[in-house]
Amino acid sequence: MKPLKELTRPNVWALKPYSSARDEYSGVEASVFLDANENPYNAPNNRYPDPLQGELKALIAPLKGVDVKNIFFGNGSDEAIDLVFRAFCRPGIDNVVAIDPTYGMYKVCAEVNDVEYRPILLDVYYQFKASSLLSAIDENTKAIFLCSPNNPTGNSLCRKEVESLLNRFDGLVVVDEAYIDFSDSPSMLKDLDKYPNLIVLQTFSKAWGCAAIRLGMAFASPEIIAIFNKIKYPYNVNLLTQKEAIRMLQRPEQVKEWVDTLLEERARLMKEFAQLPCCKRVFPTDANFFLAQMYEATQIYNYLVREGIIVRNRTNVALCKDCLRITIGTKEENDALLEALRKVEVE
Ligand code: PMP
Repeated sequence: MKPLKELTRPNVWALKPYSSARDEYSGVEASVFLDANENPYNAPNNRYPDPLQGELKALIAPLKGVDVKNIFFGNGSDEAIDLVFRAFCRPGIDNVVAIDPTYGMYKVCAEVNDVEYRPILLDVYYQFKASSLLSAIDENTKAIFLCSPNNPTGNSLCRKEVESLLNRFDGLVVVDEAYIDFSDSPSMLKDLDKYPNLIVLQTFSKAWGCAAIRLGMAFASPEIIAIFNKIKYPYNVNLLTQKEAIRMLQRPEQVKEWVDTLLEERARLMKEFAQLPCCKRVFPTDANFFLAQMYEATQIYNYLVREGIIVRNRTNVALCKDCLRITIGTKEENDALLEALRKVEVE
């Protein structure tokens, strides 16, 4: 890996971060807070939240087998994605490489930050070769974005190729594991110490059932995390979110039960889809959704909307012609989808 200083935008490297009122004292049990221009009434919402989310990090660290210093929390993992661009990519100069198709926000964040986005098409099995991504890089490539299990294809990426990339690329490799809790493939988290250029993203939005609270996680070396902390908004994770996440962390059996149920429903739904006359092909998945190639995806999508059932039409996405992306719902929701699709006539 190149020295982190070389990968970081010079202005960010040189930046002296905003120091919030609560950053400036430590080590004493204070009880009178007249430092942050807060209203003394309406506790607890009158106070700014912990800018570095210490209590939450202390709970997540053992769960994920990492050190507190390896953790960044953001307003969804979307915040961490954006921070990769803001921290490392010089607008109008640098570029990033990504697999294609994949999660759309990498490209949107690249464009917002005026950073060139270089998509490299996956093969017909929705896999990549490290060498083909490496052939797209140049001296201004700061990061490569991978997503495993990938969205919208659902499959996990080949571990050997991911590792090959981590070994051979001297910039950052972002592995987005938003759907890892639904997968049999192991997380890359235990390899954090081995790869100083690895950034792993996870989220509370999927298996944890907390999309509304907006809590995403980035795991990386303490040096990379320190750069994220330097440029994030001071109070980027609000108090209600921190509290709700702490409450959820006390209910791991509930999350496991949801995941088990969703995996059972996934197997059932995919089996039923394979029998539907309007379905051409069901793709294997490691996520809480799967891709189904239909006869006339757009017609079927519009029909389902009229029936009040919303799936994702991915027909215009690379390698996804006539594909619908189906999120696994409750048994009743999945049954409603199947019932509607059984009525579709195919010539
Ligand atoms: N990564 C992937 C692959 C996703 O599919 C999504 C959301 N659909 C996200 C990240 C964003 O998640 P969050 O809610 O944590 O911002």
